Formats: sequence, C-alpha cells, structure tokens
Amino acid sequence: MLKKRLCIIGSGVAGLHLAYALRNDFNITVIERKSPDQIRRGRIMSTQVHFGPTRNRETRFNMPKWGEQPLIKSIHITIGNQKLFVGKLQEPALSVDQRLYYSHSIKDLIEKGVSFRLEKVDKESVEVLIDEFDLVIDCTGKNGSLLPFSTEEDLSLFKTPQRKCIVGYFTGIKADTPLGVGVTVLPGLGEMFEIPAVTEHGPATIMFVMAIPNSDLDVFKGIKSAKEFTLKMRSTAQQFFPEIYNRIDGKNFALCDENSFLQTALTPIIRKPYLMVKNKLVVGCGDSVFLNDPITGQGCNLSSYCAEQLYETLMEYKNSNWDVETGESYWNRTKQYVKEVTEWTNAMTKPLPEHVVQLLLQGAQDQVKANEIAEWFANPTKAYEAFISTTTIH
Ligand SMILES: Cc1cc2nc3c(=O)[nH]c(=O)nc-3n(C[C@H](O)[C@H](O)[C@H](O)COP(=O)(O)OP(=O)(O)OC[C@H]3O[C@@H](n4cnc5c(N)ncnc54)[C@H](O)[C@@H]3O)c2cc1C
Repeated sequence: MLKKRLCIIGSGVAGLHLAYALRNDFNITVIERKSPDQIRRGRIMSTQVHFGPTRNRETRFNMPKWGEQPLIKSIHITIGNQKLFVGKLQEPALSVDQRLYYSHSIKDLIEKGVSFRLEKVDKESVEVLIDEFDLVIDCTGKNGSLLPFSTEEDLSLFKTPQRKCIVGYFTGIKADTPLGVGVTVLPGLGEMFEIPAVTEHGPATIMFVMAIPNSDLDVFKGIKSAKEFTLKMRSTAQQFFPEIYNRIDGKNFALCDENSFLQTALTPIIRKPYLMVKNKLVVGCGDSVFLNDPITGQGCNLSSYCAEQLYETLMEYKNSNWDVETGESYWNRTKQYVKEVTEWTNAMTKPLPEHVVQLLLQGAQDQVKANEIAEWFANPTKAYEAFISTTTIH
C-alpha cells in the first residue's frame, strides 16, 4: 500500500517533532521559507527551555542529541529583590538556540530522506498543496495560520499583547548556582527570565525581559543596534535586577553575535486546530493554532506535546479516510492540556493571586513545596491546579 503523502508547512518545534515522528509511516514533505543556513545565520526567534517531557519525546522520535551540555536542573524564584527559593526539577531541561536546533534538525531530516522545499507558502499556494497532498499540516508559528481555523473565544482573552518581549543571548554573566532558570517577578513592572542556553558559540545566558507595556520596565523602545541593546540591558539589570547585575563581568558582557537580540510582542490566540477545506481535512500544530504569551515558557513544550498527540491520532486513523472525525479526535486529545497551559499562562500575565503568593512564600520555608513549584514548568497541569483551584480567572 502506498504511504499517504503529508505536507508540513514550517520547520519549527512543531513541524520538526512531527516530521521525525511521522517519517517512518508516511511520505513527508517539509516546506520552509528559510534555508537552514539562513536560519542559522539569522536573528534569534525566541527563547526556549525543553523540559523533561519534551526531551523524552525528542528521544522517542529519534531527534538529534546535543552531546554533553550543561543541563538545567532547577528554577530560581525571586519576587522583587527577595530571593525566595531554588526548586529542583525532577528531570533536567535543556535550552538550545533555535537557530542551531532548527537548522541542524532540517539538515538531519534531509539526510534521512525527508523531502524539503524552500518556499514561502501563502494563502493561494496552500490551496494547491491541499490538492497535492493527503494532509496539509500548518506549523507556521506565531505569525498566524495560513488557514481560517476558528478562534476559541473562551481561551482567547486578549486583544493586545500583555508583555513586551525583550531578549538577548549574552556572554559575560557568571551563572547562578545550581544551574537553573531564574524567574524574577517585579509586581506591576514585569519579569526577567535568565536562562542558561547552548549556542553555536558555546554556553550563553539568555536575558529575557518581559515588560508590562508602558510600565517603568518598558525601556527598550526605539533600540535598534546591538550596541545600544547591550548598554540598555546592562543599565536595566543595574536598575531593576541587581542580583543579576552583580554577576555581570563588565569587560566580557556582550551579545553572542550581532543577531542574538530581539524585541517582539504577541497577542495570544487559541484556535480550533482542524478544518475541512474542499472536503479535505487540514490541521494546525504549534503556535499557528495554540499561541500563548511566552511568560510561562510553555510554547515549545506545548508544540511538542500537540505534535505527539497529532502523531498518535494519525497513527490511530492511519488506514482510514482523514476527515472531520480525525480532526475532532486530535482536538479532543489536546483540548484539556491546551486549556490548562493557556489559563495558567493568562493568569500569570495578571497580578499573582494571593493564594499563589502564599504558595510561593511556603516554598521559601519548605524544600518539598519549592520543588513542587519548580515542577509547574515541566508539568503545567500542576500549575493550573495551583492557580485555578481556588479562583476563576477571567
Ligand atoms: C520572545 C519569545 C520567547 C519565548 N520563550 C519561550 C520559552 O522560554 N520556552 C518555550 O517553550 N517557548 C518560548 N517561546 C515560544 C516558542 O518559541 C514557540 O512556542 C515555538 O517556537 C513554536 O514552535 P512552532 O513550530 O509552532 O513555530 P516556530 O518556531 O515559529 O516555527 C515556525 C516555522 O515556520 C516557518 N514559516 C512561517 N511562515 C511560513 C510560510 N508562510 N511558509 C513556509 N514556512 C513558514 C518559519 O520560518 C519557522 O521556521 C517564546 C516565544 C517568543 C516570541
């Protein structure tokens, strides 16, 4: 029997996880608007921490390994200038610069026989692809889906971005110990995430400022050059994040490369991830359908989770016609988890509820509690239960 032909548009986390998962059972074509070298030499797109469950899926799908790298084993929580605790993760996490991860994985897939087309798909050309393939999967990421998937209004609360995202990959910062992700919450202003990452140039520290728009932390407006960006990050650390500033080595503090900084802002939106077009099923996976604010660091992990669920669905229906029932089955598998991640994430963009502040304060007294809170990031169902259990967030 001929293998069904699938087209994956976009080779980010969602597209790559799917391509690796599906390649043995289906005939896969990946279409991507940038060549591996353009991705590798281009601007950073994101930050990323692949927690235990995502790393386990990477192993399950035989995705590339990253050798002996410094693993993220803990989450450091600070509120204001008060360090509360260091919670231990049950399984270590890893952050690899997406420019390296994506470009390396695409090349590896091509070597493994997956077809790759360099093309920017638009709303017209996607129609041609729907005719050509048995299934088109939209993995085009945060810039919006190519297909008119309907919005899930209950999960799409915002009309504007809730944070300005300001990211730089730096050298010249002494790592905090034990090695972990640092989360600093400045009530009314925003947050700073400090993430140890693996880059083409070796280990780096990501400084990720999430500024509430128009707050006193929203100070990067109009900054375009790498030099200005570096100076502003340094003065921002000095003013708002003194503990991090004290670990900066003045002489060596620099961006990893001219393209390792980014300013962006996104409006979260959740869409139903399937649709019938011309009597054929089309589906979405990753940010193209499940786009959340980066504040909880779940985007890559949710994309990977949904890729696995889509893989399981397509395997279950491997020998049937793919129709609305297949799409509904995929959505039923993912809906609850998408809801949990989204509602936790939306709640994090607002002032922390009092009962969550109390939990964090308990974490400062009790290592077991601290470890449970660290685990929220690897297992967002736990975070959802903690946030939503006694309050309803609207
Ligand atoms: C500032 C910032 C910080 C973040 N921090 C974190 C974090 O710490 N942890 C975390 O888990 N997540 C984080 N995220 C979210 C995470 O980056 C995304 O959720 C994840 O990359 C989504 O993967 P994806 O495959 O859906 O999309 P992407 O990674 O965006 O990949 C989409 C791919 O599709 C290609 N493409 C787009 N349009 C077309 C087209 N028309 N034709 C062909 N190809 C196309 C793009 O070139 C790209 O390669 C962050 C996001 C941002 C913006």
